[in-house]
Amino acid sequence: MRYAVLSDIHANLEALDAVLGDLGQVDATLCLGDLVGYGPDPNACIERVRALPDLACVAGNHDLAALGRYDVSWFNLHAREAVLWSGEQLNDDNRDFLDGLPLTQAVGPFTLVHGSLPEPMDYLLSQWEARLTFEQMTTPVCLVGHTHIAEFYYQPDGTSIPEHRSLINGGKVKLEDGMRYIVNCGGIGQPRDGNPLAAYGLYDSRRRTITVRRVEYDIAAVQRKMRQADLPPLLIDRLTYGR
Ligand code: ZN
Repeated sequence: MRYAVLSDIHANLEALDAVLGDLGQVDATLCLGDLVGYGPDPNACIERVRALPDLACVAGNHDLAALGRYDVSWFNLHAREAVLWSGEQLNDDNRDFLDGLPLTQAVGPFTLVHGSLPEPMDYLLSQWEARLTFEQMTTPVCLVGHTHIAEFYYQPDGTSIPEHRSLINGGKVKLEDGMRYIVNCGGIGQPRDGNPLAAYGLYDSRRRTITVRRVEYDIAAVQRKMRQADLPPLLIDRLTYGR
């Protein structure tokens, strides 16, 4: 089976469509949340994701903030402005969809969570924070998003300090027996690892590999739409740099 691993779409339809085009046919879809916030197409992005095969999806902080279920005082001014705008755009059907998303979900060998297991809306940014999630894992692999940085941690059973590897330029993680993994396949709609290309993952259950791919998309087109929607200039500019 081929599984798509999608995260942090952030209402960027151009990036999402480029990823879906690159992906080809999949049997199942794993989504790590933040479908909305920042970008100009929240409804269309949610509808694309809902139409994907055998979808398992968890909520991100922007999804909950757009519903008024997450305190936006945690957000910087630009993020807050964009997420409140997202919330105003959502139709009832898509609002209900976001409202029904769980914070964590187990699917086969995977646990899905937006940020980290101790606190689903916290960033996992270090080997120390990875260790806290490893301690709570009940599956061999945890898939996370939230940081928009493509990377992974792995921990041989019984050791305390997780190893870390970057996936900024894409790459493959081969899942080995006796090893546990935390994998972040990067962000689709607003990469922040210095690579402006949209990032996503593909899990092949026969080969037991997770491949992270980076995909070009029409950044200028989404920036034009963001200007038309009067979204914050800083959010528009950062797409160019992947920061
Ligand atoms: Zn995000």
